[in-house]
Amino acid sequence: MAILATDAIVLHSFNYLESSRILRLVTRDGGVRSVLAKGARRSARRFGSALDLFAQGIAQLYAKPGRDLDTLSGFDVVRARPMLAEDMGRFAGASAIAEITLRFVRDAADNGLFDVVVEALDALAAAASDEALTATLASAWRIVAELGFAPAVDICGECQDALPTDAAVLFSHRAGGALCQRCGRLAPAGRVLPPEARDALRRFLVGDAGAPLDDGATRAHQRLLREFLAEHLTDGRPLRALEMWEEQRW
Ligand SMILES: [Zn+2]
Repeated sequence: MAILATDAIVLHSFNYLESSRILRLVTRDGGVRSVLAKGARRSARRFGSALDLFAQGIAQLYAKPGRDLDTLSGFDVVRARPMLAEDMGRFAGASAIAEITLRFVRDAADNGLFDVVVEALDALAAAASDEALTATLASAWRIVAELGFAPAVDICGECQDALPTDAAVLFSHRAGGALCQRCGRLAPAGRVLPPEARDALRRFLVGDAGAPLDDGATRAHQRLLREFLAEHLTDGRPLRALEMWEEQRW
C-alpha cells in the first residue's frame, strides 16, 4: 500500500453507505483521484470541514495497486472557500469548473494544471456577482489551454497561416479553432467569431476575464465553450453542471 501526501481540492462529494463519503479530488501529485473517507458521516471530528466542496488542503491518501478508489486517512485544510457557496452564480461557475476538471484531467501528476484550478476557484471566490459568468468563462478556457487543446485564434487551425488580427473569422470546433478564408470554404460547419469575441477568447485562454461581458456576448461565449468541450469529450456523457451554469438554473 502506497501513501501519498499531496495538495488536493475537493471537487465532488457524495454519501457512501451509512457512515462514509466518497470524494473526487484534484491533486498536485496524483491528478484526479476518487477517495473513500471512512466514517466521515459518523464523526464530524474526523475530517471537520475538510470535506466541504472546493476546500483545499493536504490530503493523505492510501492507494492500493489495481484499485480505483484510494482511502483518505487525513485532510488538513489550508483554504476553505465559503464565498463560493454564498452566491449561486459563483457556486454554479465553480461547479462547472470542477466538472470540466474531473472529466478532462487524468490520474497523473500535473503541477501546472493544479495551479490553474487553484487560480480559477480563487478568482471565482473573489468575483462580484455580476463578474461570475465572465470569470467562469476565463477559467474554463484557461484550463483548456493548460490541458493542451486550446483552439487556434490567430492562426488557421487547418493550414496554420496567420490570420488578420482584427477580422471576423470562421470558427470550427472540429478543425480546432479559427480558419482562414480558404480553409473556411472547405469546412463542413462553423460559427462566425466577430473581432470582439476573438479578443475575449484570446484573453480567456490566458485566464484574463477582463470586464464582464454583456448578456448577448456571454450567451454566445457560453455556447462556444459548450460546443468546444463536447467536441473534445469522447465518452458522450453530458456536462450537467456546465448546462446548469449556462442556463442559469438557480
Ligand atoms: Zn487555412
